[in-house]
Amino acid sequence: VSLLKNFRSTDSIIEAARDLIQYNSGHRLEKRMEHGKSYHEGERGDIYQLAFQTRVEEVEFIARKIKELSGCKYLESVDDENGDKFYRGLDWCDFAILVRTNATARDFIDIFEREGIPFTARGTAGLFERHDIHFLQLVFNYFSDSEIWTREGNISCSIADLKTYYEQNINKRRWRKIKSTLIELKKEIDKGNRFYPQHIYQQILHAMGVEEDLFNEGQLYDFGRFSQLILDFETVNEWVSKNRLKSFVYFLNGYASSRIDIGGLDDPTRLNTVTIQSIHKAKGLEYPVVFIPDLATGRFPSRRRNHKPDIYLTNIELSRFTSRDLGERRLFYVGVTRSEKFLFLTMAQDIYPRPPRPSVYFNEYTHDILLVDNVPDPTKRKHIKPDPKTILEIIPTTFTDLQYFLKCPYDYLLRKLMGFSPTIDLSFGYGLQIHNLLNRIHTESQHVVPDENEVDKLTEDEFFLRYTRGQIFDNMKNKAKSIIKNYIKSFKGDFPLKLETEKPFEFVLQDALISGQIDLITKINPETNELSDVNLIDFKTEKKEGRRERSPVNRLQLRLYAIAAGKALGLNPVETNIHYLSDNIRFDVDISEKKLSEAKKTINNAVQGIKRRKFVKKPGTHCEKCDFTLICSKKN
Ligand code: SF4
Repeated sequence: VSLLKNFRSTDSIIEAARDLIQYNSGHRLEKRMEHGKSYHEGERGDIYQLAFQTRVEEVEFIARKIKELSGCKYLESVDDENGDKFYRGLDWCDFAILVRTNATARDFIDIFEREGIPFTARGTAGLFERHDIHFLQLVFNYFSDSEIWTREGNISCSIADLKTYYEQNINKRRWRKIKSTLIELKKEIDKGNRFYPQHIYQQILHAMGVEEDLFNEGQLYDFGRFSQLILDFETVNEWVSKNRLKSFVYFLNGYASSRIDIGGLDDPTRLNTVTIQSIHKAKGLEYPVVFIPDLATGRFPSRRRNHKPDIYLTNIELSRFTSRDLGERRLFYVGVTRSEKFLFLTMAQDIYPRPPRPSVYFNEYTHDILLVDNVPDPTKRKHIKPDPKTILEIIPTTFTDLQYFLKCPYDYLLRKLMGFSPTIDLSFGYGLQIHNLLNRIHTESQHVVPDENEVDKLTEDEFFLRYTRGQIFDNMKNKAKSIIKNYIKSFKGDFPLKLETEKPFEFVLQDALISGQIDLITKINPETNELSDVNLIDFKTEKKEGRRERSPVNRLQLRLYAIAAGKALGLNPVETNIHYLSDNIRFDVDISEKKLSEAKKTINNAVQGIKRRKFVKKPGTHCEKCDFTLICSKKN
């Protein structure tokens, strides 16, 4: 494969881009990009270049085009061997709006919200521009009796202010339910007792209708990003009461809302939303449909392209830090070549008091099939059911993540892609502490069975729960001691046979790179020096379910470990065990060839489900213990 060949875009996109970049020649020998094996033919109506009278017309055109092309039959791939063609209908994730500066992104938020187009605005300007997220900011200010300061004056956050904002910008009908929830929550917070911010947050979302599926994937993703902000706060504030909440609100008002960049996923196409992002961050990404708006003089190329940084330094050549014409044109080139087929270059003439002209790139980027009038698409296109594209590359994952997917794909979506954090409660970190203590005991015992005093001392020194204090903490510590002592009493044999504890592994299984760590590996036969025949043991702090161990997920985990031990660690697992510490019982797991091959199939199905975005809700008895029960309708 030649690195200079572009395998994404149609010949028309590439030919026009090649001509454009010629304008940079003379300064630097440009690489000549050729169009390689593209699946798509360029057709009239694929590329438009339009100057609108107003910004409103420009963004309305873009919203309309997205809807028009949604479901457009699109050639996804061709089988190299037999030439079979695979089609799908374009879905939200196939559209990208690439902006020169993040400020331009703001202009799309209102219309996309109004038109119900799911979107993700990456970068600093995105999150708090969304009305739902700004409303949440107001709510937390209300809880802590604070106001938002702005240059234009303070924004007060009384319940009446919240009502006005909510009804004007979000939903006219749900206010009564939200109001009663907010008043109840505030009453609790005002008592000055400890509370759990994620739990409060989920109750607000519940009242806003998240569990009724009133929000699209883009909105959910931004709610997940807000949950991450709460997690950032919880991580350094173990004990949250009303006083402490004020510092969270200062963090939101003074920093997060203006500066923080929590763009989340490296590859935004993993969500089924329209992406709005800066061209700078689009390198390496590709979309069937790309819009580059705001192509007006002064905007792109930027009027500041020759401005040096506003600092006084005599010993540094500051012009190095300017983008200049060459850099701006290269940036535009990056933008247009993100498109696989459809490309819309637009501008508006009412953005300054004096109407700007179209960018110089309007003249430089030309092609026979390019249309410069806002005429209907001259090519007849077939429409089928929209279907998001499949992620093609190998996905890195862990058994824990796959376990979430197997339990309920929607849980996986909320947790792993949207970034929702579960509520932190008193027992948070307890299981990890027990695992750490067992690891230390095994490591320090040097194959000799430790006595009870050693367990007491180690637990006193090491046991730590970040979010728990007082009597509850002492109870949990004592419970940990007794669990470990019972284990040592009943399973002394583990100590002389120990080979490894917390052994990490990483290996490729079909389309996934799976990593994890095995709690304990012991030799099978102490008499021989055969080190590769081993027993794999996984410790569980949860109680076993029912009279016998029936959890298929736990058995799957041990089978995966058996595969990993063979593939990644060069071991020969002869036995595998699940050890329930609270009951101090150990169960053998069948790792016959047949069972291992079934396990591979199950894991591969889960990986394919993730790659194909099959995030359906899978309700069952596990919903009772689900971290997201307040924000899930439990219906598909
Ligand atoms: S409540 Fe049930 S259906 Fe909903 S995410 Fe949790 S496990 Fe899945």
